[in-house]
Amino acid sequence: MARDFEKLLSGFVNRIEESSTLRMAQMARNLKAKGYDVINLSLGEPDFDTPQHIKDAATAALNAGITKYTPVAGLLELNQAIVEKFKRDNNIEWATENIVVSNGSKQSFANVCFALINPGDEVVIFSPYWVSHYEIVKMTGGVPVEVKAGIDQNYKITAQQLEKALSPRTKMLVFSSPCNPTGSVFSKEELEAFAEVLQKYPDVIIVSDEIYEYINFTGNHTSIGSLPSVADRTVTLNGFAKGFAMTGWRIGYMGAPKEIAKACVKFQGQVTSGASSFGQYASSVALRSDLKPTFDMVKAFKKRRDLLISLVKDIKGMKCNKPEGAFYLFPDISAFFGKSYGKTKIKTAEELCEYLLNHAHVALVGGEGFGAPNCLRISYAASDQDIRKAMNRIKEALEELKYT
Ligand code: GLU
Repeated sequence: MARDFEKLLSGFVNRIEESSTLRMAQMARNLKAKGYDVINLSLGEPDFDTPQHIKDAATAALNAGITKYTPVAGLLELNQAIVEKFKRDNNIEWATENIVVSNGSKQSFANVCFALINPGDEVVIFSPYWVSHYEIVKMTGGVPVEVKAGIDQNYKITAQQLEKALSPRTKMLVFSSPCNPTGSVFSKEELEAFAEVLQKYPDVIIVSDEIYEYINFTGNHTSIGSLPSVADRTVTLNGFAKGFAMTGWRIGYMGAPKEIAKACVKFQGQVTSGASSFGQYASSVALRSDLKPTFDMVKAFKKRRDLLISLVKDIKGMKCNKPEGAFYLFPDISAFFGKSYGKTKIKTAEELCEYLLNHAHVALVGGEGFGAPNCLRISYAASDQDIRKAMNRIKEALEELKYT
């Protein structure tokens, strides 16, 4: 007898949305496996390989027998390198007891959410937000409170907006800078204005996702955790995937007040334990080495941003701003809603992405999962050639859409 396994799935898992970035990436892989020439601009993944000296460090670690369990909070070597890095790059003073290494900064975010949020607690999230920030908050029973900024305000929330969203029920504030998906970067002054507003809410924990820290075209990255008035209640998340082209290595980390760090270790210890030992060792080498390979990648990303913006300007109906970091463009594409291809009417960003995947063989991500249903996300962590080819195909496919 065939069983209906779907009926057995928990309410918990049924309430979670699938990650739209990972879903589009998988749809692109599936189409590619069928022999189509698909250009994948869905996933935020540098097209560069991990720098050789980091790979060599992992090989050396394997050969030296660094192949065993590590402490849940991380290999001491890496924890120390992270303490030095926080001091060097972020002006944040943490000791090793404040550091928790994880299997990617996504896990770091899950750790801190499960360690802090009680059902019903409000979590203020700047929107557009990264898909998993929102969903993980929901998983804990927390109530996401979105504060929205559109393209007209460069996707940047103001301190006044933040003030309106905070309440005695707020447990946590979450944002990323540089932001995934918008590429917006908060300046020191803007962060100071947030910190000022937060003085009225001394129990709110700030979670600052800085995974795109190095991919910042302004030349200035400020960590909100470096501001004295909020330093003791800021959890700073980071990882190796983006800045060191190490997406598949799965190494992330946080710096947090020690009680929170300890709670995260307890939680992570029950679900995954420590991250991969040789990956952690190589990550310590990455942090302690010359960052030239990282900044060479950043130079390339900046050129690609400019290239992509110039190509988008050629597409009537696509409206974009000029992001200052990360490697995404987040254009408003609502001008295409209501147009059709044959009998199929495009009503949403996701439908437009599906159309573009199937007709132009270019994978993008709809804005719905990021809290911005009028937009879509284009990753430009791809070669100039692929960007040009993709945008050409997109332009042609969009020109085929008509009002019927
Ligand atoms: N963070 C990347 C993105 O937004 C990778 C996907 C993921 O980690 O969920 O595309």
